[in-house]
Amino acid sequence: MRLKGKSILVTGGSRGIGAGIAKTLAEQGARVAVAYAASPESAMKVCENLPGQGHIAVALNVTDAVSVQTGFDEVLKTFDRLDGLVNNAGITRDQLILRMKDEDFDAVIQTNLRGAYLCSKLAVKHMLKARAGSIVNISSVVGQMGNAGQTNYAASKAGLEGFTRALALEVASRSIRVNAVAPGFIVTEMTNALNAQQQEAITSRVPLGRMGAVEDIAHAVGYLLSDESTYVTGQVLGVNGGLYM
Ligand code: NAP
Repeated sequence: MRLKGKSILVTGGSRGIGAGIAKTLAEQGARVAVAYAASPESAMKVCENLPGQGHIAVALNVTDAVSVQTGFDEVLKTFDRLDGLVNNAGITRDQLILRMKDEDFDAVIQTNLRGAYLCSKLAVKHMLKARAGSIVNISSVVGQMGNAGQTNYAASKAGLEGFTRALALEVASRSIRVNAVAPGFIVTEMTNALNAQQQEAITSRVPLGRMGAVEDIAHAVGYLLSDESTYVTGQVLGVNGGLYM
């Protein structure tokens, strides 16, 4: 129960890694706000199935500043505190650069990078007053290694890692920590979109010989949100089966 008494907001909590993170945080004693954009029913289902009391599902589209503000207002009104933020919401729009539509490049940056900026700004505003807090950004091994067909996604995630370090420096004096977890290839709807051949090609390159599970990521996030990591800030924790060292 290392997160007992903590209130934590997870963006993109309606499925995949975000839903897995919400479950693990609740199991570790946190009260969780499961944020969603397009999938209210799934978010409510995730929320209903969380162990413990007081969890909420909240509408929060990270590409829309008004929706981010409204979502945060609801969370703070209900919880009256915010100990942790997980910037997990993310999308892919894969294409080789010559065929990539400009709007697909922009959409990925808007969601994965600007979305984390908008949410962090509101979280920091609250955490500065509390002189405590932990923000965890969900990056990707692709931001570290690159990947053909993902210039937009790799740029968004590499940017998110730089953002993590800069913000960590800005808020460290107030005991607010900012870290990132960089997953390798994890079994979710995002990677189910890859065909069997692509999935096999990935697995064959992973030293630990398998794709990751959402729990692998969720446990790393739980650690960074907990008081077990109070001397850790500005770090990127790779959870990738050894794919990138
Ligand atoms: P996923 O299954 O496709 O889920 C994406 C989540 O993001 C959904 O809950 C979705 O919520 C939310 N989302 C999308 N656009 C949003 C927006 N504008 N505002 C708020 N929420 C939005 O993806 P995943 O695989 O779980 O990935 C989660 C995170 O891990 C992403 O940041 C991704 O880049 C990162 N990651 C994943 C892998 C992997 O192998 N799966 C590897 C490395 C990093 P709604 O449906 O409600 O819109």
